[in-house]
Amino acid sequence: MPTSPMPIDHTAIRAEFPLFEAHSSGRPLVFLDSAASTQQPSRVIDAVAEYQRHQHANIHRAVYQLSQGATRRYEEARATVARFINAAEPAECLFTSGTTGSINLVAAAWGRANLQPGDEIILSTLEHHSNIVPWQLAAEASGARIKVIPINDAGELDLAAYRRLLSPRTRLVAVNHVSNALGTINPVREIIAEAHAAGALALIDGAQWVAHGRTDVQALDADFYAFSGHKLYGPTGIGVLYGKRALLEAMPPYQGGGDMIERVSFTGTTYAGLPSRFEAGTPNISGVIGLGAAIDWLSERDFEQVSVYEQALLAYATERLAPIPGVEIKGRAARKSGVISFVVTDPPLASLDVGTQLDLRGISIRTGHHCCQPLMERLGVSSTARASLALYNSRDDVDRLADALAEILQQAGLRAAARAGRLQVDQADLAPRSQVFGSNSSAAPADGMNLNEVAGVEPAYPAAAADSPQAAADAIAEDFALLPDWPTRHDYLIELGERLPPMPPSLKTEANLVRGCQSTVYLAARRKPGSEAVIEFLADSDAAIVRGLIALLQRICSGQSAASILAFDVDGFFDRIGLDANLSLSRRNGLEAMVQRLKALARET
Ligand code: PMP
Repeated sequence: MPTSPMPIDHTAIRAEFPLFEAHSSGRPLVFLDSAASTQQPSRVIDAVAEYQRHQHANIHRAVYQLSQGATRRYEEARATVARFINAAEPAECLFTSGTTGSINLVAAAWGRANLQPGDEIILSTLEHHSNIVPWQLAAEASGARIKVIPINDAGELDLAAYRRLLSPRTRLVAVNHVSNALGTINPVREIIAEAHAAGALALIDGAQWVAHGRTDVQALDADFYAFSGHKLYGPTGIGVLYGKRALLEAMPPYQGGGDMIERVSFTGTTYAGLPSRFEAGTPNISGVIGLGAAIDWLSERDFEQVSVYEQALLAYATERLAPIPGVEIKGRAARKSGVISFVVTDPPLASLDVGTQLDLRGISIRTGHHCCQPLMERLGVSSTARASLALYNSRDDVDRLADALAEILQQAGLRAAARAGRLQVDQADLAPRSQVFGSNSSAAPADGMNLNEVAGVEPAYPAAAADSPQAAADAIAEDFALLPDWPTRHDYLIELGERLPPMPPSLKTEANLVRGCQSTVYLAARRKPGSEAVIEFLADSDAAIVRGLIALLQRICSGQSAASILAFDVDGFFDRIGLDANLSLSRRNGLEAMVQRLKALARET
């Protein structure tokens, strides 16, 4: 390792990541989703490959040299982790599957031994689901209660409220070091000190911190500290739980199995000491090797410089995105990490559409609730678009994002204006609608009628677009065969979505809300009055791309017999028209949920 830290040379750093090399021709990839998972430098990939090729054997168990070499590398990586976070000793650093695995370990093992009815656990509004749900499970099992630290409108924890929540009943405070959804850097040293003063322990979810600033668990006086390898330029499926020795030693084992025992007999088993006691079974050896290599790689840099570089980039990104009309940045904490969450309000554009359209321009960002649904609820949104920064990002990436966003918004504005014009329906406007929904579609409003007014009268459920779902699907497949690539298919879907029959607000009820989608989807399905074996439905979404999918589904299923809907293979159809490859699983899940609802109704018929 060099004695003096390397300066942050963005171009040189980027050149170390094979992914960017692979996307360097044409328009280089702009990867702005490192808060979800960072890319890996060659050093990490090579270390894992070298291990797999030449050094692999199970660890801790055999006398032969190959196994001893693997064991040595595994334990060296533990020592590397301990130095990286300044743990008092390597045995306090347990390897887990990731932050989620680490928090579940504490919630289950420590929770089982320590939580009683009436005890309190303090979490915050900013938490990732993986620092909420394990505690809910522990609370359910023990009778403990969860209290939540609120935030202010900037996305900062309300520390005065935190102090009021602390009491002699508080057993543990679990908060993140950095919010993955907003980038807020929390004053964890202070939070830990206050927890200790109240006689409670503190667990810090460091998933979003460790790659961006120096971590010193002793200086923080953290009782537990959790993080993941894949947000630290390392592999997936590997993470760390740091715990103070005395606390870990007092905890019962989490999982039982090989390697975590001292002696097993049917009259009683005794357990191994740290760290083996909490690493039952064969661990993710190559993941550990990769994590060690990632930490070595990152440690060649000085965290002061990492921070200066990333903060300058964050300031630049904020400067470029904030003035774009219609963009509203969520999370304006005074201390922020390289995360910018935003929503598009004018014209209203679902995060899912923002993400999809940026992807069409070679820009990867994250959209959705970021596993922070309680936070989204507090912000009054169902999702945000989130750009997150790492050392391989540059001002060029930010410029590409800002320029693309401005262009997308401008186009969306033009579309919205065109749509508003189209609402004054004339005969010419009705033609494409009848093509989309079938010439006998009852969705087509009467001449001269404003679609907004249609919403006020009896909802117009679309009639069958073809003789059977299969016939409708065949016709759609023929149309799609003429569309050569994903961008043209995407545009076609948007067009279809724009011509969806309106769904009256009275049908947008909680009962008609479809869960499991990145966007908000409402679906109202019914048996056709007077023709009970026929199912018809109206649906709507805040995301244009999902409206396109709804249009396809409607054309296939609405107005068809229950039996034919049940017999139709929707998955196979989306595969057939080539959308499977481009629509993310979660988007498909929304579709899947709609299909499940339709089929459930069809089954009852
Ligand atoms: N906590 C935070 C703050 C996170 O950002 C994440 C990952 N998005 C997690 C926990 C969960 O990490 P993992 O999926 O690696 O277990």
